[in-house]
Amino acid sequence: MMRWLLALTALFVAVLGKETFEGHQVLRIVAKDDVQLSLIKDLEDMIQFELDFWRGVTDVDSPVDVRVPFHSLQSVKIYLESQNIDYSIMIHDLQVMLDEEREEMQSAARFAVPRNTDGYNYANYHTLSEINSFQDMLVAENPNMVSKIVIGKSYEGRPLNVLKFSTGGTNRPAIWIDTGIHSREWVTQASGTWFAKKIVTDYGRDPALTAILNKMDILLEIVTNPDGYAYTHSSNRMWRKTRKPNPGSSCVGVDPNRNWDAGFGGPGASSSPCSETYRGPSANSESEVKSIVDFVKSHGNIKAFVSIHSYSQMLLYPYGYTTTPVKDQAELHNLAQKAITDLASMYGTRYRFGSIINTIYQASGGTIDWTYNQGIKYSYSFELRDTGRYGFILPANQIIPTAQETWLALMAIMDHTFKNPY
Ligand SMILES: [Zn+2]
Repeated sequence: MMRWLLALTALFVAVLGKETFEGHQVLRIVAKDDVQLSLIKDLEDMIQFELDFWRGVTDVDSPVDVRVPFHSLQSVKIYLESQNIDYSIMIHDLQVMLDEEREEMQSAARFAVPRNTDGYNYANYHTLSEINSFQDMLVAENPNMVSKIVIGKSYEGRPLNVLKFSTGGTNRPAIWIDTGIHSREWVTQASGTWFAKKIVTDYGRDPALTAILNKMDILLEIVTNPDGYAYTHSSNRMWRKTRKPNPGSSCVGVDPNRNWDAGFGGPGASSSPCSETYRGPSANSESEVKSIVDFVKSHGNIKAFVSIHSYSQMLLYPYGYTTTPVKDQAELHNLAQKAITDLASMYGTRYRFGSIINTIYQASGGTIDWTYNQGIKYSYSFELRDTGRYGFILPANQIIPTAQETWLALMAIMDHTFKNPY
């Protein structure tokens, strides 16, 4: 029955275009004790509700944010109320917010197509092709500093583009930054675009960045999951995973942040293709992941690796798959503290920080666990704004402030990496 419903939904999307979220609510649920926590966790297995956990179940006092489709709202609320579990409605009708977002995007896009990166609207969300032409303009405007490397192809055949910022040398030590590996986290790709422009603008002006770029390269993959990103625009704004079909299932896609070869298959990822945290059939099964793995290995000189997500305002270091602390825990912890202090200095945005497993939850097959085990000491992951008021649908007027404050934290990490060669 479930399978048919999903197939039917997929068919409607194919025929009618866009998936609608009319009447969907995002509930924030808070457990008072461990009994309530496990009752909330049980919701994850009630697949007939088709719940989408925006912020997963962690521990007592940490809120769980979950998108509830209209057809399950009554049942879920009755379930919670009958167990005396507290919840509030964060988003009353998701589609209303999505309509506003779309309207804003389209009205901003009515301005002429930018002819250069100065004319690009950084305060607006953009389509994949707009971001691609931004990248090409940036390369054309800065031929001595910026080049585009295609590290592979997505499942649907799109190029996986990485911008390389370099002032010379061959195979210099490098800093990697990626955004958008989860496609619906739109503020990350938008921030990545802003970072790219910031790097070319600040080189020669900001002494700290200039010193870094005189010795090191910066590698930036803005749209790390292009198939997913295109799909968030064409069909389903809430799409997180890759777009590779799963044999034997009507559910599509793998969670590209559970697909890395670090604790792969362990607790903290799903073996079910319909789950938002489906790990995939094997480590590196997704070309979006495998292409980075191959690139990192063949480069051999990446010293910092920063993977950027949203939302919930956290700066995280390994591990996610095990409670065993990393051997550089003290240094990574202190640097994270410095980075979030710098971040907060701009707009007062508060971040939590720590290892993934201690700060969010156990997650296996994650990006930075693999990069750390690969010998990249400064491996970090961000969860950008906000803490749940808008969640993944962060209003466009928060893009630039988010990017600006995050840049301060990135500079702290890059500067430390530069000053502590290993
Ligand atoms: Zn994410």
